[in-house]
Amino acid sequence: MSLTKYLPTAVPLPITEEHLREIVAKTKDWALMHGAAMRSKKHFSEDGVVFAPFVLIPSCFPRSEFNKAVALQPVLNELMHRVAHDQLFLTDSLKETIQVDEFTGNLFKIYETVQNEGVTQRISLGLLRSDYMVNTNTSNSIKQVEINTIASSFGGLSTRRTPSVRFVLQQLGYGDLNANLPENTALEGLCGGMVEAWKIYGNENAAILFVVEEVTMNICDQRFHEFEIYRQSPQTMVIRKTLTEIANSAKLGTNNELLIDGIQIAVVYFRAGYEPGHYPSKREWDARLLMERSQAIKCPSIQYHLAGTKKVQQALARSGALDLFLTEAKKIEAVKDIFTGLYSLDFDEFGNQAVQMALDDPERFILKPQREGGGNNIYGMDVRTAMLNMKDSKERSAWILMERIHPPLSKTYIVRPESEEVPDLVDVVSELGIYGVVIGDSQKIIVNRNAGHMLRTKLSSSDEGGVAAGSGALDSPFLV
Ligand code: ADP
Ligand code: MG
Ligand code: MG
Repeated sequence: MSLTKYLPTAVPLPITEEHLREIVAKTKDWALMHGAAMRSKKHFSEDGVVFAPFVLIPSCFPRSEFNKAVALQPVLNELMHRVAHDQLFLTDSLKETIQVDEFTGNLFKIYETVQNEGVTQRISLGLLRSDYMVNTNTSNSIKQVEINTIASSFGGLSTRRTPSVRFVLQQLGYGDLNANLPENTALEGLCGGMVEAWKIYGNENAAILFVVEEVTMNICDQRFHEFEIYRQSPQTMVIRKTLTEIANSAKLGTNNELLIDGIQIAVVYFRAGYEPGHYPSKREWDARLLMERSQAIKCPSIQYHLAGTKKVQQALARSGALDLFLTEAKKIEAVKDIFTGLYSLDFDEFGNQAVQMALDDPERFILKPQREGGGNNIYGMDVRTAMLNMKDSKERSAWILMERIHPPLSKTYIVRPESEEVPDLVDVVSELGIYGVVIGDSQKIIVNRNAGHMLRTKLSSSDEGGVAAGSGALDSPFLV
């Protein structure tokens, strides 16, 4: 039996009830007043917002592993950029999956169409977020959960977290510990990427288009991006449209300019379009194709979207795959080091072996489909049931099998809207996200840099911890 592994706490806990009541009330208001908030599920039709769930005392994160993740981001940017531009690799990795997964299949059709027609806009903008957990099974080294190439969110709210945590530590009399909270420039960095892409497009009158959902729960995060763009580049116009609205109003100009209500679009920033529900009919798919055919710089371009699928992540973990994209042995080793076991479920010898491994030891693995946004994976003994159901069907190629990461626990208070005034001390685990910005085409990379971080924390008893999905809370790494 393995012992439960705990990280230390940033400050001595518990906090007395009286003190806790006061600091929780203050910090809730601080969060609202600084916009660390989301659309209220109850009152969104009345413009209501509530503070986003947060962790009162920041979770500890090993400093060396944090630095490792930061240092690695430019390598991952380069890797993902090259993968996105390798037609053979994308096609080969996804060939079985697209036959059974309609959504990925539709994305792939758009990709093939524009590749065959000839790509109009050769430049892509990547705003990536690589997510990690510390793994107690590998001496507390970080392992990559996934890398997001579309709608990498929470850059705005995370940037608000760091000063909030500083405020809490100060209020509790531990202001001297603030040096352990790394600066976070996620919002500035991500929006800087959009402004750079807008400048590369080179038309002062062209706008940045945010592709959004019908109802945006994560509205403050998105507006922070919009307002930061205005701050950095006051003449840049930002407009927000759903895929359905785009289907109704978008046209291509004579040189394939993307025109929406007559406004030319320089950059398309997708904060929707990553799940089937965002495409209620064929018209939304047509709108996606129209944008892809246009001169606008896409974030992500269709090949970047495909490069971020779980299937491609798994293909990159195959022996020798990284050598196709990275030349320096040191970089290859560093990336390999963050991969945990990732297995294909395609119909071949490797796929069959993976099926057997999952049946023999289901709790060691997670089953993942080609979806984003949380709440889609299968855990624990359900892995076995699902595998028994799908093992003889072609469906299984739509999934990948991933080794489960076992993060260390820590103790903290999670504060949610409408929860008790005095939260309980709970066992939690954290997931670190590192943002990266990359701009370039198939021949060259023009911009490649880091752009801050985010930390999400969830109850150790819950399998997933999406903040927008409801079970996670915003945190900020306290480096130890
Ligand atoms: P999504 O694209 O939907 O966010 P993820 O791969 O990030 O998909 O999975 C969602 C969540 O599931 C993660 O945030 C994490 O909490 C949990 N998770 C995913 N993969 C693993 C893993 N290998 N080990 C432990 N937890 C995982
Ligand atoms: Mg994702
Ligand atoms: Mg995720």
